[in-house]
Amino acid sequence: MSQLDKVARLSAQGGSASGGKNFGDEFIMRLRQPDRDIRISIPIKMDNGSIKIFEGYRVEYNNALGPYKGGIRYHQDTEINEVKALAFWMTIKCAVAGIPMGGGKGGITVNPKELSKGELEKLSRGFVQKLSDILGPKKDVPAPDVNTTPEIMAWMADEFEKITGDKTRATFTGKPIDKGGSEGRGTATAQGGFYVFEALRKELGLPEKCEVVVQGFGNVGSYAALIWHKAGHKILAVSDSKNGIYDANGLDIPKLMEYKKNTGSLSGFPSSKNISNGELLEIKCDLLIPAAFENQITDQNAAKIQAKVILELANGPITPEADEILFKKSIPIIPDILANSGGVTVSYFEWDQNLKGEHWSEKEVFEKLEPMLRDSAQKIVKNAKESKTDLRRGAFILALERIKEEMV
Ligand code: NAD
Repeated sequence: MSQLDKVARLSAQGGSASGGKNFGDEFIMRLRQPDRDIRISIPIKMDNGSIKIFEGYRVEYNNALGPYKGGIRYHQDTEINEVKALAFWMTIKCAVAGIPMGGGKGGITVNPKELSKGELEKLSRGFVQKLSDILGPKKDVPAPDVNTTPEIMAWMADEFEKITGDKTRATFTGKPIDKGGSEGRGTATAQGGFYVFEALRKELGLPEKCEVVVQGFGNVGSYAALIWHKAGHKILAVSDSKNGIYDANGLDIPKLMEYKKNTGSLSGFPSSKNISNGELLEIKCDLLIPAAFENQITDQNAAKIQAKVILELANGPITPEADEILFKKSIPIIPDILANSGGVTVSYFEWDQNLKGEHWSEKEVFEKLEPMLRDSAQKIVKNAKESKTDLRRGAFILALERIKEEMV
C-alpha cells in the first residue's frame, strides 16, 4: 500500500470510524488536499560544462497551526505524490507534537551520489533561488531529510540570506551548530522516544527494567539502544542491514558502538550470537523498537511478534495489515507520529532559538522536550481510552482536534 493510500485510509478513519469521533466531511475533505504543490526545474551547469535540468518540489500541505515545516529529500525516486504524502504526515506529526508548525515537504529527483560537491551546492542553492518567494521563517521552514545534510542546510540558509537579506537563519533547520543549529538535534529522535516510553511505561504495564530489542543501528537505533541501556534496561538484541546480534544477558551498548566503529560490523561482538533480522523481530521481550525502515512488520510476521509493546522510532515500520493483527493480539503500538516526534520538536526549537537570537544548551533543549512529549503521550492515551481505539488513532484524533481548532 502506497504512503498516500495509507494516509487516505487513516484520514478516513479520522473522519468516521475512529471510535465515534467524527470531524465532519468538510474538514476531512480539506485535509485531503495540500494548500499548494509546486514543481520547479533547476538548471545546473555540470562540472563537464553541460547543462542538466533537475526537477524539484515543495508541497505546502497545511498551515493551520503555523508555518509549513518539513524536510527536503534528494533521491532518484522522489516524485510529487511521495512528497505530498510526506507533507501530510508532517502536518499530522507537528500537530501531535504540539508545536506551532504546519506541514510541508520538499524534494529533488536526483541521486546525490552521482554529483560532485560543487554540483550539489549549485543544485541546493538553485532550489532556494526558485522558491525564495514562498519560503521564510513565518511562511515555510524546510529541514533535512533523506540524503540532505547539515552542510546542505547551511548552503540553503546562506542562499536565502543573500536573496532576501533575512539574517535570522530561521528559514532552514538542521543546520550545523556553528551556523545556527540546535544542540541535541542528533539524538533528539531517540531521546524523545525514550521520554514517550517513560510517560507510558506504567500505563502499558511494562516493568521498571525492560528487556528491549532494537532493529536498526543507525542514527536513531544506536542512540536509542544507548539511552535505554544507560537507563538500566537490558538490550537483548540489535541489528543493522547486514547482521543481527543477540545476548540473553544484555549487550554492552557503549562497547558495541565502539566495536562497530572499529570493525564496521556488529557481527562477532564478544558473547553475542548472530541472528537474522526476521529472528530479531520475533524475540520475546518487553519492548521492540523498530528503528530502521518502513514495512518491517507485515502480515507475514506480525502473528509471530512476542514483544509486549512496540515503539515505532522508524517511520511506518508496521503495515496497516500487521497493525490489525497486532491490535487483535493486544500488543500496543506507540505510533511513529508520537514516538519519533522528538526530532521535529527540536527542529522547532532551532527555529525558535534563531528567531529569538538565543542558543540553548543540550540540557535546556531536553528539559523543554520532555514535558511536551509527555503531555502529548498522555492526551493520546486518554483519546484512545475514550474512543476505545488504539494509540495510533488516539494520536490522529489529537492531531485532527488541534488542526481543526485552528483551521479558518
Ligand atoms: P540511518 O540510515 O542512520 O539508520 C538506519 C539503520 O537501519 C542502519 O543501521 C541500517 O544498517 C539499518 N537497516 C537497514 N535495513 C535494515 C534491515 N532490513 N534490518 C535491520 N536494519 C536495517 O537512519 P536513521 O536516521 O537512524 O533513521 C531510521 C528511521 O528513523 C527511518 O525510518 C527514519 O525515517 C526515521 N526517523 C529518523 C529521524 C532522525 O532524526 N534521523 C527522525 C524521525 C524518523
